[in-house]
Parts: sequence; structure tokens; C-alpha cells
Amino acid sequence: MSLRSGVCPNCESTEVHHDSANLMRSAPPLRVGLGGAAIRLHFVCTACGLVQDFVEPEGARLIRAKWPRVEPAEDS
Ligand SMILES: [Zn+2]
Repeated sequence: MSLRSGVCPNCESTEVHHDSANLMRSAPPLRVGLGGAAIRLHFVCTACGLVQDFVEPEGARLIRAKWPRVEPAEDS
């Protein structure tokens, strides 16, 4: 489970806030190749301070096309 569910996976609080609707993004986007960018959305549990960030689906598609995929480890 992640903070995107609205429930903190660390402390089970529902005091989860996000910057999805914020035009002034709280962090620069990830740069993906030449001129590409993936906007990061932040989710914060204001009870315990846990922060998670995610790229929007459009950014995820760009990254899938441009960045190498990590091969799952065999013995982890
Ligand atoms: Zn929490």
C-alpha cells in the first residue's frame, strides 16, 4: 500500500496530503532524455512525516521508453 491510497502505510493515519492540484510544484520534474520531463506528485503523511513521490502516467510512459528497465534480482 502507498500514501496514494489516503492511508499511511507507516502509521495508518489518514492525514495524507498531496500537491497534485498545486500549480507551484514542490520539486522540479525528472528530466527524461532531451527535452522530456516527468512531473512528480508528492504525497505526505503529516502525522509521521512519510513522503512518497510518483510520476504522472504520462511521465511514466516517457521513462518506460527512454530509461533501461531494472532486471529483477534472482536472490532478493
Ligand atoms: Zn504516517
